[in-house]
Amino acid sequence: MRVWLDQFRVVLFDLDGVLYVGGAALPGAAETVAACRAAGAAVFFVTNNSYLPAAAVAVRLQALGVPAAADEVITSAEAAASRVVAYRVRRVLVLGGPGLKGAIEATGAQLVAPEPLAPPLGPGSAAPPAPVPRSVPDAVVLGLDPSATYYSLAAAGRAVLRGARFLLTNGDVTLPTGQGLLPGAGALGAAVAAMTGVSPEVCGKPEAAMAEVVRARTKGAGPVLVVGDRLDTDIAFAGRHGWAAALVLSGVTAAADLPGAPYAPHVVVADLPALLALP
Ligand SMILES: [Mg+2]
Repeated sequence: MRVWLDQFRVVLFDLDGVLYVGGAALPGAAETVAACRAAGAAVFFVTNNSYLPAAAVAVRLQALGVPAAADEVITSAEAAASRVVAYRVRRVLVLGGPGLKGAIEATGAQLVAPEPLAPPLGPGSAAPPAPVPRSVPDAVVLGLDPSATYYSLAAAGRAVLRGARFLLTNGDVTLPTGQGLLPGAGALGAAVAAMTGVSPEVCGKPEAAMAEVVRARTKGAGPVLVVGDRLDTDIAFAGRHGWAAALVLSGVTAAADLPGAPYAPHVVVADLPALLALP
């Protein structure tokens, strides 16, 4: 008889380190999602990774054997887009993948191109300063952007220095991949923050913008459980917004990391099969 897990009406699953690692499903992924649904819970997949559109994330989950609909996927791109709407931003410089660009475009805001910049050193350095571009962005939205360059980050920083609002999809400084750690959106944001002295408004887990997107999507239903592998994003997300949290140790967190965490999870389990086995 499973009592603890079955009490929740909404279950928010993190993806990387919880349902899959790299390109492979983790044990118990499909079974745990199915068990939550069978118990009557609404299931959502909530990720700080803004790169892929929600529909593409759903397809990826389906390929791993986890039935998922596009409207059950919530990414930090939607959290950033909700802020673009709230601030009535008209022109946005987006550094990010197709998921972020699509989400910002869907708000009705205009996406502006980074201003063209001459190389700072070498022959181009003698060129006269570039004129201020006609389409000055009201906001910079920065996400995971594998095609970011010195120049795109420079354009983002220059827009922030001219007064553009600085929104960051998520603060994760690393991106765990099959080839080890790569820089996350937070690392790119840190470069712009260092250049400008301006701290970004972070939109993804554990921040308020993401929680507002979740509440809108779930119509405020509860009780809510967050299942995640990161203390600073998933477990803090639950702690800050009054939700229960289950930490799985199948991702980036080890049991030794628990002391000193700002928010303690309600349960700590090795993996999803252990969560499913809780009485
Ligand atoms: Mg994770």
